[in-house]
Amino acid sequence: MKRIAILGSTGSIGRNTLEVLKNFPGEFSLVGLSAYSDTGTLIQQIERFHPKVVSVVDKEGARTIEKKFGRKIKVLAGTGGLNALAQNEDIDLIVMAISGAAALLPLIRAVEKGKDIALANKEALVMAGEIIMRKARQCRAKILPVDSEQSAIWQCLEANNKNYLRKIYLTASGGPLRDVKMRDFKKIRPADVLKHPCWKMGKKITVDSATLMNKGLEVIEAVHLFSIGADKIEILIHPEVVIHSMVEFVDRSILAQLAYADMRIPIQYAMSYPKRLSNGLPGVDFLKFNNLSFAKPDEKRFPCLRLAYQAAKDAGTAPCALNAADEVAVDAFLNKKIDFVSIPRTIEKVLNRINNITDPGLEDILRADQEARAQAMSLINN
Ligand code: NDP
Ligand code: MG
Repeated sequence: MKRIAILGSTGSIGRNTLEVLKNFPGEFSLVGLSAYSDTGTLIQQIERFHPKVVSVVDKEGARTIEKKFGRKIKVLAGTGGLNALAQNEDIDLIVMAISGAAALLPLIRAVEKGKDIALANKEALVMAGEIIMRKARQCRAKILPVDSEQSAIWQCLEANNKNYLRKIYLTASGGPLRDVKMRDFKKIRPADVLKHPCWKMGKKITVDSATLMNKGLEVIEAVHLFSIGADKIEILIHPEVVIHSMVEFVDRSILAQLAYADMRIPIQYAMSYPKRLSNGLPGVDFLKFNNLSFAKPDEKRFPCLRLAYQAAKDAGTAPCALNAADEVAVDAFLNKKIDFVSIPRTIEKVLNRINNITDPGLEDILRADQEARAQAMSLINN
């Protein structure tokens, strides 16, 4: 039995992870769950799945859970509690499903304890990929990708020598604005983008899918997961979302991973690895598709791609600043403080203003994150 904790269990990935877990009672035992403040969902999850320990960052929320469950479970509060859960001795594998930069420190704590990580969160790798991957090697923690594209690349590379890798084709659905004209971008409201054509996800990643920053972050994620230069990663718009990514080897042979678009498939594989477990999910129905199509992404309409490639090339603290500025700009867009086209503009201005620090340590990363947030905030408020 693998002993599991889900950090960010109340979110989209977290809930899908519980769906997977429910189907394999003989494989996984649930030790811990965590939320930021959504105690309503967490209470339902506790009643259904009986974890031994839960962490709630919001202290009021933690008290609510404590009052309700008394001594039946251990309740940890605040970010300290979250870090403690990440290091809990009774956990073998952590599903990291917290969104945004908040995942960074608990992820590092878990890696330092040598725990395996089913990693859905992409922001932490973008911020501090080198530090995380180095620590994972030192502490023998496996980083098992959950993001569907990274899972695809991982699966394609698994039985092959990575030294023969020539390039990666990172596929993208194109997001909800794939066919929208640039002149209409100014009118885009949060409600227009919160409906993603293929995936039901948290708000931040859904907006990132509309600006294509999600794909930009995935380029940087892949750089770290597979030790490959960003110049060897090509994004392909693939609206059918059947091929989740591909790898090309030096002899020009290409492998692709295909599956029905359902996050439970990559979540399950990261959890069950190296086993594959039979499930009741639908497979790809090839006869439903007349065509599998591919297109080049339009960097004019989606400048976030250019910004992400540039940050990947600059390395140092630039990707961290890119991510911080994006988180602030997306939040401002969702709160109707800025319009849609101001998201990339804000990020670009922040990147032009900050000092890039090469070969950063964790302290440099945390400082760069704070500085970029402050810069983005001041741009938005003025
Ligand atoms: P959601 O917004 O649905 O869920 C986020 C989870 O993180 C919730 O449990 C939330 O708790 C918790 N959380 C939010 N902020 C904090 C914080 N500051 N400290 C601690 N916990 C916090 O996000 P998703 O599930 O969509 O995405 C999670 C991650 O996985 C993201 O990094 C995303 O990029 C990545 N990902 C998601 C995919 C998807 O299909 N959704 C696909 C591929 C990658 P609460 O509910 O209490 O607020
Ligand atoms: Mg993805």
